[in-house]
Amino acid sequence: MGFDFSTFGCMVFDDREMKRRLPEEVYASLKESIDQGSSLHPEIADTVAEAMKEWALEKGATHYTHWFQPMTNITAGKHDSFINPQRDGGVLLAFSGKELIKGEPDASSFPSGGLRNTFEARGYTTWDCTSPAFVRDGSLYIPTAFCSYTGEALDTKTPLLRSMAAINQQALRLIRLFGNTSSQRVNATVGAEQEYFLVDREMYEKRLDLKICGRTLFGARPPKGQELEDHYCGRIRLRVSDFMHQLDEELWKLGVPAKTKHNEAAPAQHELAPIFDTVNVASDHNQLTMELLRVVAKRCGLACLLHEKPFANVNGSGKHNNWSLSTDDGINLLEPGKSPYENMQFLIVLCAVISAVDRHAGLLRMSAAVPGNEHRLGGFEAPPTVISIFLGQQLTELLQRIAEGGDPVQSDGGELFKDVATLPTLKQDDSDRNRTSPFAFTGNKFEFRSVGSSASIAQANYVLNTIVAESLDWICTRLENARDFDGEVRAVIGDTIRKHERVIFNGNNYSSDWAAEARQRGLPDLDNTIDAAGALLEPDSMDVLELYGVLSRVECQSRYEIKLENYTKIIAIEANTMLEMVKRQILPAVIGYTGQCAEAHNNLIRSGIENKSLKTLLLRLSRSITDISEAALGLETMMKHTHTIGDRKNLAVYCRDRICRQMEQLRSAVDTAETMVAAESWPMPNYTDLLHRV
Ligand code: ADP
Ligand code: MG
Repeated sequence: MGFDFSTFGCMVFDDREMKRRLPEEVYASLKESIDQGSSLHPEIADTVAEAMKEWALEKGATHYTHWFQPMTNITAGKHDSFINPQRDGGVLLAFSGKELIKGEPDASSFPSGGLRNTFEARGYTTWDCTSPAFVRDGSLYIPTAFCSYTGEALDTKTPLLRSMAAINQQALRLIRLFGNTSSQRVNATVGAEQEYFLVDREMYEKRLDLKICGRTLFGARPPKGQELEDHYCGRIRLRVSDFMHQLDEELWKLGVPAKTKHNEAAPAQHELAPIFDTVNVASDHNQLTMELLRVVAKRCGLACLLHEKPFANVNGSGKHNNWSLSTDDGINLLEPGKSPYENMQFLIVLCAVISAVDRHAGLLRMSAAVPGNEHRLGGFEAPPTVISIFLGQQLTELLQRIAEGGDPVQSDGGELFKDVATLPTLKQDDSDRNRTSPFAFTGNKFEFRSVGSSASIAQANYVLNTIVAESLDWICTRLENARDFDGEVRAVIGDTIRKHERVIFNGNNYSSDWAAEARQRGLPDLDNTIDAAGALLEPDSMDVLELYGVLSRVECQSRYEIKLENYTKIIAIEANTMLEMVKRQILPAVIGYTGQCAEAHNNLIRSGIENKSLKTLLLRLSRSITDISEAALGLETMMKHTHTIGDRKNLAVYCRDRICRQMEQLRSAVDTAETMVAAESWPMPNYTDLLHRV
């Protein structure tokens, strides 16, 4: 059955509904705030609230919620009904402008990195009119920003909105210099490709590690992983296809433009990509997508895993963050056009990105730091932790030529399929794809591939917007003060290449040669979450975030604290989950199976048979019991020790350097046992069950 596309966005209070339901001048005023980012006139709030309520009631809503994004990578909100009891025993349904604009959740119950204590708990949410409200499960969802009583941002949306203002200001300055007088606004646009795993729900329920931690903490290598390269874009199984279909429909009704779906490289791994939108809307849509992935999977008897590395030895999941800059009248500033060699504005924007990424590689790496990504980055077809840019040979050479004072020339792309008469001839793209780079130019946008699959994309994008705004600011100042504009444009390109060429790398980022070369080039390698978080405290990072009004120093500090706290908490939860699984499921199973083997061995001896292989197996099983017990005991002792470490950083370092290693040791002991114990005696589904039995 096809989807009725006239219902696309039917659950969204979108432009169509606003136009239909609001008085003309109210609509015009609201529209100006949405499109131009101008401040909202509070007088219109009552009228908008009333129209929203009427619309929401028609859609079956009974409640409204201020929907916000605390620093947990998921969303939050409490739901208030519209009811207003009357003296006669009935109710009126009411929703005021004040209720639309302002909410007061308890700020102390969300991560604040020291900004909030329980005794000073007040926090505020405030309506973000630039992302449309929608109805879901009987509630009117109002996208909001979330801050503390003293005004510090406690969410991911606030800095994102601030960064959009910054990049708008600087990018507008630039296009004016190049003669554009018509565009009114420049937006960062983003399309976030979302990778995920699907496993059977029943099997998922039987794995405490998947349920509690979202990833397998144990699991011997299955006979077949992804080595045959037969999953990527392969036929989608009926059960998965049914899931994808239901998901698309849910998303489309909520106005999320889900576009592409396919199987990913690892078995049981898939991807969904929407059509890009302005970054704020794209970010909200991505949060909704993650929520619906989970909900729809459950409905289909599946479980969706958004963790960056649910399974060892196969690919992890990321979120390819496709980013560009577009004017309100549709000009993509990263579009080279037919002749990139003539398009100086494009080359300047390119240079702004190159210098931003080189200057703030640490901050960008920080923006992709969630604990799960520590297991993903740097292995199995995931970008390395060193940040570099892929530009492609042609563009790199073009910039180098200009830097050397030469004249840019166009190199001719070849043609494809010329030799098969029945196939249409295709023009070769300007650059090949490089799937190994953390930050790749892909023709008219940059693709930041380090972002984790479970993370909010807001952080990556407010960092990107801010650091590029800084570069643009500098470039604009130079160009504004130049006597010879064209000469100065070339000089900017030259300086960028001379100073920042080291960050451009067009080769294979997965190779060990690159690791060595990157070190030689002096590119930073923040290869773990703690060091990556530390980039937030670097003076350069704090300066740029503060100067462009995106995060104050206090906010940077608090976000650093949250990252460390989150890291240690996750490791503690994983370690405790391991211990519970080992003590209550795995050891009993290994001991039980060892007993069975011992009995079999005794029976044989009683029959006068001496079987050496069985004896060896028994010895190995017994050894395994010892290894598992000792590794678990070691982990338990370390966990106790953590309670004596007061300092947050020291605790995080202890987790990274000692606890994680011990967890690996415990895993390895258990995985060895798994290969020896009979399948029916193993207390949980194994990797083959999880990866190949959807
Ligand atoms: P792939 O990278 O898999 O080849 P595409 O290049 O078609 O896929 O697009 C990947 C994502 O990039 C999609 O979500 C798409 O909407 C998005 N995208 C395309 N153009 C832009 C742009 N100008 N700004 C931001 N995102 C874009
Ligand atoms: Mg892509």
